[in-house]
Amino acid sequence: MIQLLLIGAGHAHAFVLEAFAKQPESDLAITVVSDSPLAAYSGSVPAWLAGECTLRETQIDVAALCQRAGARFIDSPAEALDTSARRVTLANGDVLHFDVASLNVGSTLVRPEQHGQHLPHLLAMRPLSSLHHRWQALRDNVEQLPPGASQRVVSVGGGAAGCETLMSVMAQLRHQRPDIHWQGYLLSASPKLLPEAGRLPRWLIQRALAKAGIKVHARVRGEALVDGGILASDGKRIEADIVLWATGAVGHRWLCDTRLPLDAQGFVQVENTLAVVGQPNLFAAGDCSAFDPPLPNAGVYAVRMGSSLAGNLRAACRGETLSAWQPPKRVLALIGTGGGRAIASRGAMGFSGRWVWQWKKRIDARFIARFNPPFED
Ligand SMILES: Cc1cc2nc3c(=O)[nH]c(=O)nc-3n(C[C@H](O)[C@H](O)[C@H](O)COP(=O)(O)OP(=O)(O)OC[C@H]3O[C@@H](n4cnc5c(N)ncnc54)[C@H](O)[C@@H]3O)c2cc1C
Repeated sequence: MIQLLLIGAGHAHAFVLEAFAKQPESDLAITVVSDSPLAAYSGSVPAWLAGECTLRETQIDVAALCQRAGARFIDSPAEALDTSARRVTLANGDVLHFDVASLNVGSTLVRPEQHGQHLPHLLAMRPLSSLHHRWQALRDNVEQLPPGASQRVVSVGGGAAGCETLMSVMAQLRHQRPDIHWQGYLLSASPKLLPEAGRLPRWLIQRALAKAGIKVHARVRGEALVDGGILASDGKRIEADIVLWATGAVGHRWLCDTRLPLDAQGFVQVENTLAVVGQPNLFAAGDCSAFDPPLPNAGVYAVRMGSSLAGNLRAACRGETLSAWQPPKRVLALIGTGGGRAIASRGAMGFSGRWVWQWKKRIDARFIARFNPPFED
């Protein structure tokens, strides 16, 4: 039996499992390891944060997907990878050998340093898989606030995730505690919000933030949490009670202890076939992979890599030639702005409205339903 090991239950691996469920290989044993049998689907995160759907409605049932693909699921994350011995060690102590393996473990972020006794409440937006625990802890804290209190919520990071989650979080906090005076701020290290988007979508996001009563401080890099606020790179202290940390994505720390070729952010360098550079039996996809030229850290790329990855994993197991994956030139980003509205952005094009939010919700619901089909007798 050829051993195929899928490390992480990210978006790309969902497509791999779907492909093997549709077309099984009799001489292949597939194992999936992850830190949870339910995987977060990034597209639905803003709707969930805004309280428009339940957590469960945003998750893919990976264990059930494994069952359909005839794969074994192990609920324990990988902690170490020995490329020459083709061996992975899990947090539960299991050691798994593989012939071909693929990494789709997502990304994390560098948390701010913290100095002081009266720090603001930190909500780190990555890793996504454990965001629900941190979000619940914040909501529990908010429940304890005295009536009529004033709260400054500051988001650090001017990318799509930072803008979108701040608006969703503000909408939900206002709903949870209408008696509190909520103020929202966004710090962006770069001069422009959504630096990768065109001028029109950037203007739309600025307008949406202004409508939500959120003040933007551009060219301000949040460095550390200090008593009562955030220390910025220019030495100023910005007052904050709650801090959403949504700075750029980086690779998981344990990858640094492997001999994998990593880029400056700690992502695994891959060829255009998604095979790891210099490792023809090892693949990486989604946020944890460093493609050349670099791609934004967005779920849509992990999704687009999925079927090519499935084809190349099948080919690698059979010893056949791999095919190149072609990244899309432009992708459509649908960014929730709270209050049942969203912005669509593709290259220079941009539009917004309630219908964009409804459109986004339909796309996301279809995606989830694809991997969580209703139970059949
Ligand atoms: C708040 C927020 C909102 C976002 N909204 C959007 C959006 O609307 N649209 C969009 O396109 N992108 C969005 N993004 C970006 C998006 O979340 C990521 O780009 C996307 O999730 C990457 O997909 P992935 O398949 O690479 O990894 P992930 O979806 O992160 O999946 C990784 C999987 O690996 C598992 N795992 C992690 N470590 C290990 C380990 N050591 N061993 C085994 N398993 C492990 C995790 O549990 C998880 O199941 C958002 C990001 C954030 C932070």
